[in-house]
Amino acid sequence: MKFNKVLESLVNYEAGKPIELVVREHGIEAKDVIKIASNENPYGCSPKVVKAIQNEAFKMSLYPDDSMYELKEALAEKYGVESENIIIGSGSDQVIEFSLFAKANPSNKILVAKTTFAMYEIYGKRTGTTILKTPSHGHNIQELSDIYKNNKDVAVIFLCLPNNPLGECLDKDDVFGFLKEISDDTLVVIDGAYQEFASFKDKNKKIDPKELINTFANTIYLGTFSKAYGLGGMRVGYGIGDKEIIKSLHKLRSPFNITTLSLKAAIEALKDEEFIKSSIVSNFEEMVKYEEFAKKLDIEFIPSYTNFITYKVKKDSSFICEELMKRGIIIRNLKSYGLNAVRITIGTKEQNDRLFKVFEDIYRG
Ligand SMILES: *Cc1c(COP(=O)(O)O)cnc(C)c1O
Repeated sequence: MKFNKVLESLVNYEAGKPIELVVREHGIEAKDVIKIASNENPYGCSPKVVKAIQNEAFKMSLYPDDSMYELKEALAEKYGVESENIIIGSGSDQVIEFSLFAKANPSNKILVAKTTFAMYEIYGKRTGTTILKTPSHGHNIQELSDIYKNNKDVAVIFLCLPNNPLGECLDKDDVFGFLKEISDDTLVVIDGAYQEFASFKDKNKKIDPKELINTFANTIYLGTFSKAYGLGGMRVGYGIGDKEIIKSLHKLRSPFNITTLSLKAAIEALKDEEFIKSSIVSNFEEMVKYEEFAKKLDIEFIPSYTNFITYKVKKDSSFICEELMKRGIIIRNLKSYGLNAVRITIGTKEQNDRLFKVFEDIYRG
């Protein structure tokens, strides 16, 4: 059978290995497996969310409110924007997809950092567009700016702030300086999947969506409930942008792209800011231990503004990940990004302590 030509250049996203796989392949009991690979919240989600979902489970027989009125109102209030500035996606992943589909095509280009969230490229390729990347791994404003100036047909630029999988983050002032040089017809996607963490650690990294879209009408800010909010399994994300952009993206959204219970979960999660705050505080307390551990083992790490840390290891990263997996610990190998590095999600104290012990054995062994 012949398929669309673009399929030939597509690869699948390498998702974090599920706990079930380690159970099947290594015969370890599920309760003894720890997954610190996909930047989920190790403390779960707000207990208020769990309670609300239990109470409303019977509503799963009903289609969700397709206008997503309540969630949009809650987000609009949180960010000081209007409902018409918001689109809800099945994860912010889906809003990335919409953004590309709305602008990218075989006769133009998109611009990304060399090592950044893989979905920009994967969804980009589906449109047949050309993907331009900076020479440096992370976000380098000068390089992004130079490439942009030399390619007038750039339709979409992605800035991942802070950046997954490296953890670094540009300062807001540098981002705004860069945005001043960008034409009104280039859509700039600011992926704020880890903004809750970055803005807590350093105010200079904070991107306020309202200020962003009011200053630059060609931008869209993406947020997600999968990371700090601990709702990865519910698949809810959002885009905040100028009403004209949001209206166009809405044309690409299938009806009922979020489930009834996912909507409920997100609405409840927004009400429990205390839970988010305490997760973030614990995250950075535990992060310090990861920095100390790296220094002890003489491993170079990237200072992180997220809930994960990237180690540039000296042993083969695939070997390390395999050995950890055999012992029931799942972390993320960055080999597929062309780096001999591993990305570890900051877990709970117990998870981290176990990782340190096993990692040290493997690394020194
Ligand atoms: C996790 C993540 C997302 C989106 O996650 P969803 O679960 O689809 O909301 C987007 N961007 C980055 C950089 C991420 O790490």
